[in-house]
Amino acid sequence: MNLKEVLEKYTPVIGLEIHAQLNTKSKAYSTDVNEFGSVPNTNVSPTSLGHPGTLPVFNSATLEYAVRLGLACKSNITKEMHFDRKNYFYADMPKGYQITQDKTPICTGGEILIKGDNGKERSIELTRIHMEEDSGKSIHDMDPFDTLIDLNRAGVPLVEIVTEPVLKSAKEAYNYLTEVRKLVRYLGICDGNMEEGSMRCDVNISIMSKDATEFGQRVEIKNMNSMRNVAKAIEFEIVRHAELIAKGEKIEQETRNFDASTNSTIGMRKKEDAHDYRYFPEPDLTKLVVTNEYIEQIKNSMPPLPNDLFKKYVNKFNLSEYDAYNLTDDKGIALYFEELITNTKNYKSAANWMMGSIKSYLNQNALTIESFPIKASTIASLITIIDDGAINNSVATQKIFPVLIENPNLAPLEIAKENNWIIQNDSNELEAVITAIFKANPEETERFKNGDKKLTGFFMGKIMKETKGAANPKTTAQLINKVINNI
Ligand code: ADP
Ligand code: MG
Repeated sequence: MNLKEVLEKYTPVIGLEIHAQLNTKSKAYSTDVNEFGSVPNTNVSPTSLGHPGTLPVFNSATLEYAVRLGLACKSNITKEMHFDRKNYFYADMPKGYQITQDKTPICTGGEILIKGDNGKERSIELTRIHMEEDSGKSIHDMDPFDTLIDLNRAGVPLVEIVTEPVLKSAKEAYNYLTEVRKLVRYLGICDGNMEEGSMRCDVNISIMSKDATEFGQRVEIKNMNSMRNVAKAIEFEIVRHAELIAKGEKIEQETRNFDASTNSTIGMRKKEDAHDYRYFPEPDLTKLVVTNEYIEQIKNSMPPLPNDLFKKYVNKFNLSEYDAYNLTDDKGIALYFEELITNTKNYKSAANWMMGSIKSYLNQNALTIESFPIKASTIASLITIIDDGAINNSVATQKIFPVLIENPNLAPLEIAKENNWIIQNDSNELEAVITAIFKANPEETERFKNGDKKLTGFFMGKIMKETKGAANPKTTAQLINKVINNI
């Protein structure tokens, strides 16, 4: 069976659980440094090593970050909560339990807006967001004989974001992940780097026939660290489920792994082996109370959010959805654009500069906007002098922009003046140039005078060369006609 055939008969049902590592300075319940890429087993202490007698101390930055996320998703923020112990044994979790939130998650409800399969905006409802700690990391592929363990990650704060089973395709799941990653980056709470494992995703998926009223049996694919693989795993599972149903077999509730080398999933454990985590309230931490003042304080310090900026650009600035999407995709780009438009009201031109010259410069040099040398106010004054008719667009992009890259402190107008790039509106001078060019090219002039309009480009080119691109094209075209008629 292929995917297309399956989708004619069945609707996929997908729910995602995302773990996002919070980029706080220290870990969730100890003062150990929270840092990716340190020498293994150096960011540890008796607490994160789970030594008996140690006590956790809650890092309030974890709460602040989780509330920021909850506010951005319009979730309900829980006012009184506690932590729970989730008990299980694993070698990379020395305490033998994980501190998490089972019964009283910090956030309930809320939504993430994504682009749905019909191209329209869709609200993806969240079930909950809760705070917990990461385990250490088992490394299976570094040593041929042994598994290595790095406990730097043990105790790093996480939020787990759980959706309702409402996503309907691989594409929607991909778009959802894109939006979540963008959001946590804007909020400055997680770097969103899936390759480094700071954002990971469990995919729950089932299919139901178009006329069914109940969900099918779901399976869960654990620990995905690439958005593209999430999409591939979903498409593989959709077909696998349909094939099992066609053969009259049962889909078992199980946990599966994705194998990127074959683009398929492999069964890992069945429901019978499901853990009983024996959750109970964490006795070493007191209950947590969130006041309205605290929430207000965080509300007042929220950074701009990608979706709000997107709507502003489309509705207030009349930019296309395409432009707005590209401008808000990366926080740095959006912030630069925001600064740019405090200095010019030509939004379309500002957007073109961002997506044209600036982005190509960044791409060509593998730079991010944070290390772009030209100030937003300088680009704005470049736009202003184009709009004032002092220079034309090609002089701005091809000549002044490269000069500014080398000398970001120069003023665009000064550069234009110094190089004689100011548009010549003096028609006498331009007329003289045109006359001279006609005289220097008698054969072409004769043909042109006799109606060979193809030569317009030839003369335009010569005039632009002579005036170093500074001639106003409209005036030039008018003057060419005037001069030729007098020859
Ligand atoms: P668990 O804690 O065992 O993973 P949950 O009830 O918390 O189970 O559900 C986890 C995820 O599974 C949620 O994102 C939810 O939307 C999704 N889910 C639940 N039922 C289905 C289903 N029938 N098909 C697909 N996803 C589902
Ligand atoms: Mg799960």
